[in-house]
Amino acid sequence: MGDKKFGAGLLDLLLPRECGGCARTGTLWCRECAELLSDHPVQLSPRVDPGVPVWALGRYDGPRRRSVIEMKERGRRDLTMPLGIAVAGALAMLERWGELGGGNRAPIVLVPAPTRARAARSRGGDPVRRIAESVREKQRVEEREAGSALGRPIQVCPILRMTRGVRDSVGLSAADRVTNVNGHVSLDTTAISSRMGDSDIVLLDDVLTTGATAAESVRALSLRGIRTTIVLVVAGA
Ligand SMILES: [Zn+2]
Repeated sequence: MGDKKFGAGLLDLLLPRECGGCARTGTLWCRECAELLSDHPVQLSPRVDPGVPVWALGRYDGPRRRSVIEMKERGRRDLTMPLGIAVAGALAMLERWGELGGGNRAPIVLVPAPTRARAARSRGGDPVRRIAESVREKQRVEEREAGSALGRPIQVCPILRMTRGVRDSVGLSAADRVTNVNGHVSLDTTAISSRMGDSDIVLLDDVLTTGATAAESVRALSLRGIRTTIVLVVAGA
């Protein structure tokens, strides 16, 4: 008695049956959302300028907005790979356009933007880091099989940390967001790869609102002699 109901409930937990981008039922990630996210990246002009080109898969609306929220706030880990595939596609396009290194054969190093430690824990790990790792996995599989669109290795270096004292930035003005993160991004120097100097460094984040976190991250990297090539985000507000 009750087993059937329990079984159905368990299945619902295991298989959320909504597209993470548009809530269409019967699929986790629909073809239309995949196509929309594979559209060419757009350049942003954030209010707080990090001093390097800033690119997004697109604006913070529709499937981009919904998938980021589903992943971050509702723990939809199954969205990591579709978002990773979209980011990998954007990197390949930016490489073709000459926005990434221009013929550099050294690795592309993805540096996940820092997140507040408590926020990352409460969401079950850092989703941006997981996206970066899925980009690297996709690249490895492509290299093994048919050769990749990118033609150079991907590395993931999660070296940026947000130090204590940073508030949730929701509701803060651009100026307050700058003050909030100013001096609060640090580097885990033990995790810095010796080859980072030759590589193209891509600061990766899910959403860019004012650019305050990106600017502070680029600054923290540059203080250690690491020059960021571009900032790339899933969605730009
Ligand atoms: Zn969809």
